[in-house]
Amino acid sequence: MIDIKNVSKWYGTVQVLDSCSTHVENGEVVVICGPSGSGKSTLIKVVNGLEPFQKGEVFVDGVSVGAPDTDLAKLRARIGMVFQSFELFPHLSVIRNLILAQVKVLKRSEAEAVSRADKLLDRVGMLSHRDKYPGQLSGGQQQRVAIARALAMNPVAMLFDEPTSALDPEMVNEVLDVMVDLAKEGMTMMVVTHEMGFARKVADRVIFMDEGKIVEDCSKHEFFENLPARAERTRLFLSKIL
Ligand code: ATP
Ligand code: MG
Repeated sequence: MIDIKNVSKWYGTVQVLDSCSTHVENGEVVVICGPSGSGKSTLIKVVNGLEPFQKGEVFVDGVSVGAPDTDLAKLRARIGMVFQSFELFPHLSVIRNLILAQVKVLKRSEAEAVSRADKLLDRVGMLSHRDKYPGQLSGGQQQRVAIARALAMNPVAMLFDEPTSALDPEMVNEVLDVMVDLAKEGMTMMVVTHEMGFARKVADRVIFMDEGKIVEDCSKHEFFENLPARAERTRLFLSKIL
């Protein structure tokens, strides 16, 4: 589904990704962790073409992200992305937020878009808030709406960049629960997070990044249960967050 092959990226002379390679199978959930500045956000932004890269190749569902003739807008419409900060349109109600791209990009009828939106809002427990504006919702509620909005586009994969790190602690679980359900339903997911409880519950694999490199890329079992075999850098990092 997602194939990252020897990807390197520089900002000017500063290298931020260093020959990164990994593969995410259909239905697989991969958690990416690592210290600040290690390149986690950059790596997942490369997947949907939000960040150009200078070396290597990225394929999503067979489409080469870096190829000059790739329609990036079309590609992005097929990959859902949820960021740390809530990216809802503040001037649109919840339901309007969910309908907009369905109608504009996927050319669905208004009725079809509303029906899909309502189903998804129900699924994330936000149906009763459908006519509110983002500013009237808590961070956790906004983030659940953001997930529903991404799902409304029928994405082939979902990318998450620290979706719970800006939330008050009591709201973290309501968002993680939605993500756990999604994972269990077989969604292909790349999730940047330090929520190791989430990783233990649903991750198939865990990637640890440091200084632009993928230092670890192994099964959840291998990552958590066989810590002595992990790189020194990984153990040090885990000792701080576990
Ligand atoms: P964090 O945990 O803080 O979110 P991260 O692992 O997601 O960190 P990235 O945001 O991918 O790290 O950044 C990787 C490196 O690229 C960092 O050194 C960062 O300073 C640098 N970087 C990111 N964006 C830019 C930019 N637009 N211009 C220059 N350097 C950048
Ligand atoms: Mg980041």
